[in-house]
Amino acid sequence: MDFNDTPEEAAFRAKARAWLEANAERKSPDDVGGDMLGERTTPETVKRAQAWQKKKADAGWACLTWPKEYGGQGATSIQSVIWGQEESKFKTPPPIFGIGHGMCGPTVMTHGTDEQKKRWLPKLLSGEELWCQLFSEPAAGSDLAGLRSTAVRDGDEWIVNGQKIWTTGAHFCDWGILVVRTDPNAAKHAGLSYFVVDMHSPGIEIRPITQINGGQGFNEVFFTDVRIPDANRLSEVGNGWAVAITTLMNERSSIGAGGGGGAAADLLKMAEGLEIDGRPAIEDTSVREKIADFYTRSKGLQYTGMRSLSALSQGKTPGPEASMGKLVGAFLAQEVSAFGMELAGTAAATHDEAFTPSAAEWQARYLGIPGLRIAGGTDEVLRNIISERVLGLPPEARADKGIPFKEIPTGPPSK
Ligand SMILES: Cc1cc2nc3c(=O)[nH]c(=O)nc-3n(C[C@H](O)[C@H](O)[C@H](O)COP(=O)(O)OP(=O)(O)OC[C@H]3O[C@@H](n4cnc5c(N)ncnc54)[C@H](O)[C@@H]3O)c2cc1C
Repeated sequence: MDFNDTPEEAAFRAKARAWLEANAERKSPDDVGGDMLGERTTPETVKRAQAWQKKKADAGWACLTWPKEYGGQGATSIQSVIWGQEESKFKTPPPIFGIGHGMCGPTVMTHGTDEQKKRWLPKLLSGEELWCQLFSEPAAGSDLAGLRSTAVRDGDEWIVNGQKIWTTGAHFCDWGILVVRTDPNAAKHAGLSYFVVDMHSPGIEIRPITQINGGQGFNEVFFTDVRIPDANRLSEVGNGWAVAITTLMNERSSIGAGGGGGAAADLLKMAEGLEIDGRPAIEDTSVREKIADFYTRSKGLQYTGMRSLSALSQGKTPGPEASMGKLVGAFLAQEVSAFGMELAGTAAATHDEAFTPSAAEWQARYLGIPGLRIAGGTDEVLRNIISERVLGLPPEARADKGIPFKEIPTGPPSK
C-alpha cells in the first residue's frame, strides 16, 4: 500500500496550495476546532461563506467533481479529497454548503431534467443559493420511509401539508429537497415522491431549535397548504424513495468522521499548558496514557481512511473499511472532547468564548458531538448496514413490508 501522492496528485496539491496561499490566511497552530455543525452560523457568517464560495467558483475550485457543464472541473474523487485537505489548513468561513453540494446537487444531476439542472445547479455551485434537506419528521428518522407529510395534486401544482424536523440550515436556505407521501394506498416505500421546494413559499414556517450548547443549527419546518409546481418534481410520481436513496448514498459518502485526530493534538497542546498538583499536566502518567490512546486510535482511523483514498487514487471502489469511518470516528471524537472537558476542569463550566476561548471550545464540542453520532445514520443503523451489507448477516424482520401505508398499525389513538 502506498499512501504517498502520485506525481500528478503532488502537482495538483501544489497548485491548490498556491491558490489558497494567495487567497486565504493560513491557520495558526493555536486555532482550535471550528463550527462543525453550523450551529453558530449567523447572517454575517453566511455572507462570508457565500463570498468565499463565489471566489472559489470564479477560480475553478468549487465542486471539483461536478461535470464541467455545471461549473465543476470533472475532477477525480482523490483530487477533491486533496483540495479538502489543503483547504482545511486555512482560515475559511463555516462549511454551510455540505448538504447542497454533497447531496442536493448530485441528486438533481442524477434525476433532474435538463431544464431543472440549468435552473438550479449553477447558483448552487456558486453559493448564490443555499439548499437544505427536508427528510426527517417527528416519527420518521432512521425509518425515513415511514414519513407522513403529504402532497396532493391540484392541476400543475402540488399542495403540501405536514412537518419536518432537524432541518439543518433551513433558516438561511433558499431551496429544500423534500420527500412526501403522495399515495397512502401504496406500500410504505412505493407511495413517496420527491420535490424541490422554494423555502420562501407562503405556508412554510421555520422554527429554529435551540441546542444544548446554545447554538441553533437545525429547525422544525411546518408546511400548511404550501404549493409546489409540478415542474419542481424530481423523477416520476411514486419514485421518491429511489431518489431519496441517491441523496442518502451521497450523504454517507460526504459526511466526514473527523475522528478526533485534530482534537487529540489540541489535547496535547492543552496538557502542555496546564498544571496538575504544581506540575505540567503532560507529565502526569494518566494524562499521557489517555492522550497516547486517543492518538493511536485516531491514527488507526486515519490509515483506515487512507486505504479508501488509495483505492480511489487507483480508480477502485473503496471496500468495507469505508463503512467504519463515521461509526468509529464520532465515538472517538466524543471521548476526546469529554477528556478535554475533564482537563479544562472548572474552566470548562463556562461557554463564554471571550472569557475562556479554549475551554468554551471544548464545551461546545462536548455538547455538539452527540449530534454527529445521530446525523447521517445513528450508530445502531450503521451497525445494521455493516452487518447486512458488509458481513452478509440476515436482514432485520420487516413487519410492514408490502402493506398499504394507511393500514400499517400505528398504536392506539392519543386521548
Ligand atoms: C446534527 C443533526 C443534523 C441533522 N440534519 C438533518 C437535516 O438537515 N435534514 C434531515 O432531514 N434530517 C436531519 N437530521 C435528522 C437525522 O437524520 C435523524 O435524527 C436520524 O436519521 C435519526 O432519526 P431520529 O432522530 O428520528 O431517531 P430514531 O430513528 O427514532 O432513533 C431512535 C433510536 O432508535 C434506534 N434505532 C432506530 N431504528 C433502529 C433499528 N432498525 N435497529 C436498531 N436501533 C434502531 C436509533 O439508533 C436511536 O438510538 C439531523 C440530525 C442531527 C443530529
